[in-house]
Amino acid sequence: MSLDQTSYDLCVIGGGINGAGVARDAAGRGLSVLLVEAKDLASGTSSASSKLIHGGLRYLEYFEFKMVRNALKERRVLQTIVPHLIRPQEFILPHMPGMRPYWMLDLGLFLYENLDSFSKTSGQVPRLPKSKGVKFNRHIAGMPLKTKLKKGFSYYDCWVDDARLVVSNAMDAAAHGATILTRTTCENIKSAEDGTWQLTLRDGYSHEAQIIQADAIINAAGPWVRDVLDHSGLGGADVPVVRRVKGSHIVVPRQYDGEHAYTLQQDDKRVVFAIPYEGKYTLIGTTEIELDEDTDPYTVKISREETEYLCDAFNASFANQITPADVVWSYSGVRPLFDDGSKNATEATRDYLIHRQLSEQGAPLLSIFGGKLTTYREVAEDAVNRLDQMQGRTPKPWTALKKLSGGNFKADDIDDFIAREAMAYPWMDRALLERYARSYGSKMIDIVGSAMDYEELGEHYGDGIYRCELEYLVAHEWVREVDDFLLRRSKLGLHISEKTLAKITRALPEIVIMVIG
Ligand code: FAD
Repeated sequence: MSLDQTSYDLCVIGGGINGAGVARDAAGRGLSVLLVEAKDLASGTSSASSKLIHGGLRYLEYFEFKMVRNALKERRVLQTIVPHLIRPQEFILPHMPGMRPYWMLDLGLFLYENLDSFSKTSGQVPRLPKSKGVKFNRHIAGMPLKTKLKKGFSYYDCWVDDARLVVSNAMDAAAHGATILTRTTCENIKSAEDGTWQLTLRDGYSHEAQIIQADAIINAAGPWVRDVLDHSGLGGADVPVVRRVKGSHIVVPRQYDGEHAYTLQQDDKRVVFAIPYEGKYTLIGTTEIELDEDTDPYTVKISREETEYLCDAFNASFANQITPADVVWSYSGVRPLFDDGSKNATEATRDYLIHRQLSEQGAPLLSIFGGKLTTYREVAEDAVNRLDQMQGRTPKPWTALKKLSGGNFKADDIDDFIAREAMAYPWMDRALLERYARSYGSKMIDIVGSAMDYEELGEHYGDGIYRCELEYLVAHEWVREVDDFLLRRSKLGLHISEKTLAKITRALPEIVIMVIG
């Protein structure tokens, strides 16, 4: 941990999407901000989502119209400000005999699209294509399905690289002056004598503790939001309970042609998505399992029952059947929902709540409960607006109008952007160029610079991974360990050989020492 200063306007706890979003927003309003993340950025729930930027069609069944409309508005904002990480995604929703009637699905989609058209937006991104009915005997999407499924709908939402969205926010926060400290745990919070908050931070590598002061704290520790308060004796009876709901996904070899995803209705009224993933794979998720109090969310893994549930969920609609033996990778995360008293996790609201506490002398501590990846920007804006009001400033929201790190090109322009980069780097093969462009957007120049050939990208470790990328990731994206790169900044872990992995594992520690000392 290396801090030049020990006093900040705001300390943000947690480097998931909410913490990174808050840090960006607050730093852009001129506050001095420190963000502390116990592990790596997006190492909690924010890299374990279904990766959808969506209103949440199914929440209409629970009459969550306001939440769905807000999420649809945010979908358009995010399409505008982070165009390299978000893309429109077509979904096929088959009508399942004996489940929700056809007219109900039709009505749901009608409502969904109308809520979107009522949402005010700042960006100029074109609207997504309209939903339509499809007959499976005349549509490519019908080919892999069981013959009992005759018809359904096509509708659009968006897909996002969740972990990179977090990093893009953290980078923008840093560009506005925020200090981002990963592998740093907030161990204790107490009221300081001078009226501020005093936080004890512990470095995950050296295990050294450091004390800092902050005029305000925003606790965005996701599933650990209560733990942060409880460990400091701040989890009083008025603090909401966080309902921790595990969700798992499986990754199997690609199961069908085409770039569309499927929304598969299940007997238990839930829906399971099957989504094209990383070119060669299909992503299937998710489950909803209430976590018991003693389980640490960092340790969650998919269970045999969840794997079987997801295979069955897929098999109920597809002619080709999968088994747990087909699973090449899985991941699990914990939804930090706030407890609205719903009977089961499926019905529990995905809306958020910001809880407010004050130090003995009135310094604010705001804790974020619940929310979705999709609505993180709005949550962050709301939290920083409240902070401004509590500290006597006029809130000046700004994040809906400014591009995120890497997003500096027109919202519907990713193909043109790639074509321009291809002209700038004519020697680079298309696969590598597209990977850089879609992952790093306009920041790609910071990796490739003025290189004229592969040699200038530095050592090649194999599978299209060059030293310049690792150096960039360490210097600008807080990569410290191999999984930071292979599982979160990218999903290259799914693609590379053992040999490449061994070379990266050897090279990274040396690069970390060279770049950050
Ligand atoms: P997290 O991402 O968990 O971040 C909290 C961070 O705090 C962690 O990185 C943790 O290490 C850190 N931390 C904890 N304690 C401390 C401490 N003491 N000091 C410092 N740091 C600490 N939403 C959507 O919009 N679309 C989807 O498709 C979607 N799918 C989902 C699927 C699943 C299976 C799950 C589980 C969730 C899904 N969500 C989705 C919801 C969304 O992922 C979450 O709402 C969001 O990621 C929560 O972000 P967060 O920042 O609050 O928490």
